[in-house]
Amino acid sequence: MRYYFTVLLCVLILGVPWFATNYPDQTQSFVTAFNESTSYLASVIMHNPRSITDLHARYNAATAVDSSTYAQDLFSSSKSSNGSSTNILNASLTNPKIRILIVPGHEPDFGGTQYTAPDGTLLLERNMTVELAQDLMGFIKSNPHYQAQTTRDTSAWSQTFAQYFKDNWDAIVQWQKDSHAEMRHLVAIGSSTQTVSQVFHNAAPLNVALRLYGITKWANENFMDLVIHIHFNDFAGHRDGVPGKYTGFAIYVPAKQYDNSTTTKIIAETVFKRLSKYNPISNLPGESTGIVDEPDLIAIGANNTADAASMLIEYGYIYEPQFLNPDTRSLAIKDLAFQTYLGLQDFFDPTLSEQLARPYDTLILPYNWKGTFSSKKLSSPDVYALQTALLLDGTYPPSGFGKNDCPRSGTLGPCTKNAINAFQTKHGIVGETGTVGAKTLDVLNSQFGIKTL
Ligand SMILES: [Zn+2]
Repeated sequence: MRYYFTVLLCVLILGVPWFATNYPDQTQSFVTAFNESTSYLASVIMHNPRSITDLHARYNAATAVDSSTYAQDLFSSSKSSNGSSTNILNASLTNPKIRILIVPGHEPDFGGTQYTAPDGTLLLERNMTVELAQDLMGFIKSNPHYQAQTTRDTSAWSQTFAQYFKDNWDAIVQWQKDSHAEMRHLVAIGSSTQTVSQVFHNAAPLNVALRLYGITKWANENFMDLVIHIHFNDFAGHRDGVPGKYTGFAIYVPAKQYDNSTTTKIIAETVFKRLSKYNPISNLPGESTGIVDEPDLIAIGANNTADAASMLIEYGYIYEPQFLNPDTRSLAIKDLAFQTYLGLQDFFDPTLSEQLARPYDTLILPYNWKGTFSSKKLSSPDVYALQTALLLDGTYPPSGFGKNDCPRSGTLGPCTKNAINAFQTKHGIVGETGTVGAKTLDVLNSQFGIKTL
């Protein structure tokens, strides 16, 4: 709370020009909120949404900055979050790196869906989200233009977030109330609109919801530019061990009435394009557009709370075969992280993105198949790579089927056998119907294998 009063004091003493100098794009939004809020709110809510121009300019300016200096800045600023805001401001203004917060969905020991795989493994969404988050962090951290961090691992909140929740709980509660009140007021006076969710979402318990608000509040105070929430979906109404009827990924973005909507949507579109090349788009009604406008998800800025471009990605349904299959689970998760990273790069630096795509837009290819295979029940990375190669070749899924009907599963079933037939016809291979024989193997390795000079 003191943070806001400090900022408010600065504004009152120095006047709006102080703010306009530092954040020219956002002044209008702040002034509007300021004028309309002071009469009824306990504290003034600052809005500082990221603009596309600002993000591009900062990305391009970020090369020369030493990331360890920034890490120290960030550490000291988060420690003093209930005291001076000076460090935070300094960190933001002197360091142009793009700040990314990766949020694995749900809590270390609570929430998220689960499913028992055929081999008996209990899949917990809240652990799968951490695996994907860590893969994504690995890619992002390899790029010196970014400063990335995550909220937790599988066992605990990160020290920063554990401490932040502890020190700021009352402030988070108040901020949630004020944000809600501000939104209601803006709707009442016709300055904003209220839309309705297209998809049903489980309501989070109060403490969980408040921690989500807390993550957004922290992200605002620490000048995060981009926040990505990671989830795996589930569809109610199926028994454990029996897959549900919907599959595919969807990206939730803030509804258009929120200040962080425009920037988020542009980034979400580039991520969507990368993910949709190999992965099915959700066929759940309401999610089938792939990018879903969402007014009510706290994670991405319900009640206009988030300054950062904020998206929530449901990477697929937990019961999809590539997640159930122990041969492919981690490969599939890492590839989803890789394609998400490529999508971010498409927004920030398309030239680098094309280099990183190497050239298939997936980590699965190139791939060297070591031997022929034909077993009906065969399940292996070989099959997963074969399905990926045939997808790129245009022969998988087979004619008349979509990616939701025939996902890349790592298992050699009817979808794959039909696709192999189509591949063989296309490449003039005879005598190996439905199996990867010597001739098929040769064509696969010469087209999609690792080239040795
Ligand atoms: Zn979830």
